[in-house]
Amino acid sequence: MAWRDVMCGDLRAADAGRRVTVAGWTDTRRDHGGLVFVDLRDHTGKVQLVINPEHSASAAETAHEIRNEFVLQATGEVVARAPELVNPNLPTGQIEVQVDELRVLSRSTPLPFQLDEENVDETIRLRYRWLDMRTERMQRNLRLNHTAITAIRRVMDERGFVDVWTPSMTRGTPEGARDFLLPVRLQPGKFFALAQSPQLFKQLCMVGGIDRYYQIATCWRDEDLRADRQFEFRQLDLEMAFVEREDVLDVMEACVVGAFEAAGAEPPQRPFPRLAYGDAMLRYGSDKPDLRFGLEIQEGTEVTRGSEFGVFKNAPCVRYVVVPRTFSRSEQARLEELAKEWGAKGLANLTQVSKFLSERELEAFGVEEGSTALFVADEEAVVARVLGLLRLHLAQELGLIDTSLDVFHWVTDFPLFEHSEEYGGWTFMHHPFTAAVSGDEERIEADPEHVHGQHYDLIWNGWELGSGSIRIHQVEVQQAVFRVMGMAEAEQRDKFGFLLDALQMGAPPHGGFAMGIDRFVALLAREPDIRQVTAFPKIASGADPLTGAPTPYPDSALHELGIRLLDPQP
Ligand code: ASP
Repeated sequence: MAWRDVMCGDLRAADAGRRVTVAGWTDTRRDHGGLVFVDLRDHTGKVQLVINPEHSASAAETAHEIRNEFVLQATGEVVARAPELVNPNLPTGQIEVQVDELRVLSRSTPLPFQLDEENVDETIRLRYRWLDMRTERMQRNLRLNHTAITAIRRVMDERGFVDVWTPSMTRGTPEGARDFLLPVRLQPGKFFALAQSPQLFKQLCMVGGIDRYYQIATCWRDEDLRADRQFEFRQLDLEMAFVEREDVLDVMEACVVGAFEAAGAEPPQRPFPRLAYGDAMLRYGSDKPDLRFGLEIQEGTEVTRGSEFGVFKNAPCVRYVVVPRTFSRSEQARLEELAKEWGAKGLANLTQVSKFLSERELEAFGVEEGSTALFVADEEAVVARVLGLLRLHLAQELGLIDTSLDVFHWVTDFPLFEHSEEYGGWTFMHHPFTAAVSGDEERIEADPEHVHGQHYDLIWNGWELGSGSIRIHQVEVQQAVFRVMGMAEAEQRDKFGFLLDALQMGAPPHGGFAMGIDRFVALLAREPDIRQVTAFPKIASGADPLTGAPTPYPDSALHELGIRLLDPQP
């Protein structure tokens, strides 16, 4: 006999009179002396079982030993409930199953938390993830993850993309994070890196004539864990030959819309707006601005050049935001404290500094009654960062964000290089394989600071969903970029010899993109972090509370790998 012939949540009034077998978990059990009621649950919902000793003595006996989360199989007739017993809150609330055969398929020890309990500590939820997964929230999220990926695969397939598997064990892939290293028993002293992304393999697929590549690729990056970051994550990774930027953006937008539609959500309007990097930094102080609210940053540098107020006059950059309310002295002090934490020297309130300002300045900054202008004066990068963070902070604090909005947009025209504080030289903004905008190639070495890259990011409500670019397909240009990054010929050959060879053997123009699936699904599910849409995530310390990994290994195992630890094992 089958374990079940109908799902718990599927039974309706029209099924009355049917004999059915259901199986699932005990959600609740109410023992009324003689009669026992059980809400039996599977992922489709709950159905009420009634176990009546007059109906079946053996079922009644079994029913008394049932506890929450026992796994049951029940057979009986579906009967309509008396009108006063109908539960309008349950889709199955008009019926119940009058059980005559009942089996306990599996028992459960007392639970570390109840499934309907709120605010259960997350480490406990993850330690007992198999229980947590039974909640409606986790069922919905994991299934939504599947729905989104299935829709994306459909779009990819319709557009002629080919799923090509690329290795996880590889050489270091420069995506701006640390590599996870993998020792190799057969080659002691040598390590594979776990791929930070399939970047170079997908480019090689283009050289290999695949033309349209994609993969739901797992990537590994050794970075601190955050709401939108895990050590390992999946991305929709794609690459296309003989394309321009707009072709790539078009495919990505189709994927987003396809996933929204599959999830039954209202898809965003296409095409998604494009915002140049320079504008994003100027107006929002961020390369991933949240556009669900205004509070745009205003430029005040020009007007303050001849200012009497030294703080303004002597700063290379002066900008401000106008906030639609006033602040008490203590509120202002708290905001200033925050601004200092973010790296500003201070946060000037127009009202407090107006006595130092000229008519011209006051007129230019003209702020309405009841509003406040808050200024930061400093190096441009500091001003942008502090006002960008302030803008977000105030929007959250003052409830200015319309959370019903879904704003997707692209950020384009990034600089190709940025100055690295760490190395003191130039480093890539996206990755070293991004092409310069047409016409800027000649300036790569002569004037790296002002070269723009064909790099684009996709942003949803202030979360960076992913990045992509048109790539370099000429070996000379690739080598010029490596040189700007301080990489001499020998190092180029050592690290990227295979790429340089491939670029010399018929590399077509190409470009691509990668979008974090977990980030996308977390936002689609309205969850605050990606752990809620990931089956078995790690916690902030980098540990897995479920398996207890990572764990020490005995010296003998390390020895075999050619490894000796600096510090003795705890
Ligand atoms: N490899 C990049 C990343 O993982 C995406 C790309 O440029 O296609 O972010």
